[in-house]
Amino acid sequence: MSVIPPVDLTEQFQTIQADVNAAVAEVLASGQYINGPIVETFERAFGEYVGTEHCVGCNSGTDALYLALRAFNIGPGDEVITSPFTFIATAEAISAVGATPVFVDIDLDTFNLDVAKVEAAVGDRTRAIMPVHLFGRPVDMGPVMDLAARHDLVVIEDCAQATGAEWMGQQVGRIGQVGCFSFFPTKNLGGCGDGGAITTNDAELAATARMLREHGSRVRYHHEAIGINSRLDSVQAAILAIKLRHLDSWNQRRTAVAERYDSLLTSVAEVVRPQAVTFGRSVWNQYTLRLTQATLEGQERNQVQQAMREAGVISMVYYPIPLHLQPVYQHLGYRPGDLPQAESAAHQVLSLPMFPELGEEQQMQVVQTLKTALAQVGLRAAQYC
Ligand SMILES: *Cc1c(COP(=O)(O)O)cnc(C)c1O
Repeated sequence: MSVIPPVDLTEQFQTIQADVNAAVAEVLASGQYINGPIVETFERAFGEYVGTEHCVGCNSGTDALYLALRAFNIGPGDEVITSPFTFIATAEAISAVGATPVFVDIDLDTFNLDVAKVEAAVGDRTRAIMPVHLFGRPVDMGPVMDLAARHDLVVIEDCAQATGAEWMGQQVGRIGQVGCFSFFPTKNLGGCGDGGAITTNDAELAATARMLREHGSRVRYHHEAIGINSRLDSVQAAILAIKLRHLDSWNQRRTAVAERYDSLLTSVAEVVRPQAVTFGRSVWNQYTLRLTQATLEGQERNQVQQAMREAGVISMVYYPIPLHLQPVYQHLGYRPGDLPQAESAAHQVLSLPMFPELGEEQQMQVVQTLKTALAQVGLRAAQYC
């Protein structure tokens, strides 16, 4: 039995192996491993891709969020509104600068922040909104930008899962004041290690982020702020520069994979397929279903996942616990039931294997395995035949 993993990076690597090996060898031979020309080249290329004047590479997507917040001087006493249904890094960065995350419920159909609910959460201390383009799906940014303008808030886009996604023909990461990207290997543009970047049209913000990523220093050994060490490695920049050239075609292949899943799943009544984007383009970092009959504890969903695993298909649960109910945020005082859509999502979601190279036969096997697992767990809806 061949196992179908949630993501497989090896096949893609083979297609660019010669280019990557040559580029890495060149960096290694150059002796310049931190910053240097290849990092600048990649920053320029990525800024051009996103459509911003500035791009600042850094060590991870988490650091990108941290640096963006710091560059806006957001810190203790400030609040930042974000989604509870995201990877911990989003809120962690807010906490790391000393500010407080304020979680607003999501829209269950899109898994993204329910913008209609944001206004009620805006208070005297609110400084920023941090929308997350989750699973590759762009947030509908129009209402976010309107609301931010009305309340004089900064918009920091968490684009970690959405490199290449578009809202109204614009790349994510150029709509708010700043975009934060991750180059973690499983992201749409992933390196062979950690990496991240921020994109912005604000020259001063970019310069401040550069200063902060370099120990608070613009001129070597002159320190004007407590910064961090968060640079993009030259080796990663060299690899990312090569992979960037393939990103659009890989994202197209992800879209084809998603469309195949859509058609294979049309007759499966127990699942809700991802909703189509009407105002832009998703880049399908994940293909995430909702098992709508799953119990509130998510037990049935977990049983389906387990049955699939036993049959050789590894699905993932992003994310089993929404951030407002994480132990680390207990002190914020949220209770179960406070953000019901995010809590339902956490109990219902199941992400199927998704990567550009996933073949049609593998997808048929995934869906057949899912159907069998659903039947085993007894979720088979009466109308399904
Ligand atoms: C991956 C991810 C991050 C963090 O990126 P790293 O490069 O892993 O630090 C932040 N936000 C979201 C939504 C992510 O998926």
